[in-house]
Amino acid sequence: MAAAKSLVLVTVDCLRADHVGFLGYARPTTPFLDSLAGESIVVQNAIVAGAPTYYSFPAMMASRFPLAFGRDVIGLAPGESTLASVLNESGYATGAFLAGNPYLSRRFGYDTGFEVFRDFLESSVDRVPDVEDVSQKVTRRGRLNTALAAASHKLGPIGSFYDEVYFQYCQRLASPPAESFDALRSFPSADVIVKEAGAWLAENIGRPFFLWLHFMDPHSPYYPKEEALRLMGNAGLDASRASYLNSYWNRGDIGANRLQRHREAVIALYDAGVRWVDSQIAVLVDTLRGSRLWEDTAFVVTADHGEEFLDHGGRYHPPTKLSEELIHVPLLLRVPRTAKAAQSRSPFSFLHLAPTLLDAINIASPGSFRGHSHWTKLQKGQDWEEPAIVECIRGCTNPFRGDYRMGARVLGVRGGRYKLEFDFSSSTESLFDLQTDPGEVRPLDSNEQKPVRKLFLERARRHLVESVQSRDEGRRLDARLRELQLEWAHSNTKIPA
Ligand SMILES: [Zn+2]
Repeated sequence: MAAAKSLVLVTVDCLRADHVGFLGYARPTTPFLDSLAGESIVVQNAIVAGAPTYYSFPAMMASRFPLAFGRDVIGLAPGESTLASVLNESGYATGAFLAGNPYLSRRFGYDTGFEVFRDFLESSVDRVPDVEDVSQKVTRRGRLNTALAAASHKLGPIGSFYDEVYFQYCQRLASPPAESFDALRSFPSADVIVKEAGAWLAENIGRPFFLWLHFMDPHSPYYPKEEALRLMGNAGLDASRASYLNSYWNRGDIGANRLQRHREAVIALYDAGVRWVDSQIAVLVDTLRGSRLWEDTAFVVTADHGEEFLDHGGRYHPPTKLSEELIHVPLLLRVPRTAKAAQSRSPFSFLHLAPTLLDAINIASPGSFRGHSHWTKLQKGQDWEEPAIVECIRGCTNPFRGDYRMGARVLGVRGGRYKLEFDFSSSTESLFDLQTDPGEVRPLDSNEQKPVRKLFLERARRHLVESVQSRDEGRRLDARLRELQLEWAHSNTKIPA
């Protein structure tokens, strides 16, 4: 039977695997996707190749590791073959509709291969950043307040009392009253993206197409659509409460213990963002069905990374660790005329995503792709031995700044049962048994599971050697040149801090 022709890739920022119904979440975040899962291949252990956004997407789009061109290169290199460029060269209409993530922009090469590229950043080109820089947060205090705070901190407990009073003061008096969720939201909501994409689809009927949508609804600050809160049974959370919760959750002056008290409410806001994405994916699928495109379209839903809610004491998704809530994401592949097979539990690295998707629609991958298709294995529900490699630069919360990019690497080797995390800043390694310790709270003792440790360390070493040996120096130089030109252009203007 003929393979599907077209491809839709839906990426949801910050969507962790354990917050979707089809992977076992108890709350109704994804009723539509749960129904779609019945006719899809659901990859149980999809593992991104890096986190957050800027360390994740190079693998998804170009099938190579995020640090393959060196730590100083962020994004896609000029002229690099991508999912979009390969399909465009094969005659596909290509359109990208991305909800205003500053890292998925022309500056970082993500328009490569797209005939239409809408990143919704037009009005605020250099709006910063994807990651809340909690660790180095500068609170918005005036100088006098900073001095007063410093003085009060010398007095012990009074210091934290001062912080609390000041925070409450800002919330109640200094901030204008919150009007509505729509006014508070930082990114276009999924309905806006789907509407634009629908119009583009209508113009391109008759050609095979590749459509990429990126949703930001679950991303912080958490301001979901009110309708989604109602659908989730949280209609009582109004805009001013949400504003308070977001400010509280963002506080740099209190520890996890005190943040914990609002954790559930913050998760309710995040979950409603997921629910809205689900409802708008349903609208998109309706459009495809109505245009008689659905039965010729491979439809893929996934995420670039997860989100932490104090699981390991942290918030948001800064690149400091590679625990499951950050690197394990949903991956649902609905490909027409594909039988739903038993599902493999082997870790599926996003290095292999682009070649797998191309294979599913019968298109050959370019030689520069480092991964290879797992399409046959996924269809048959087969397992494989190969662990997934994940990497990022510790503390690089603002890659607009070159100096942030040059920190030490954090490298993860995620097997089916065991996971090794290696932090180059401290030369420490932690091995976890995800079966007996799914929360990754008890690293195994250094003399436990020695053969696994040895195997994974060898795999990590091989990855580092291959990264250097396979480096395309020409591409690397092109990417560096692009960076220098941008730095130049910005040298007389304000560089985002
Ligand atoms: Zn992201």
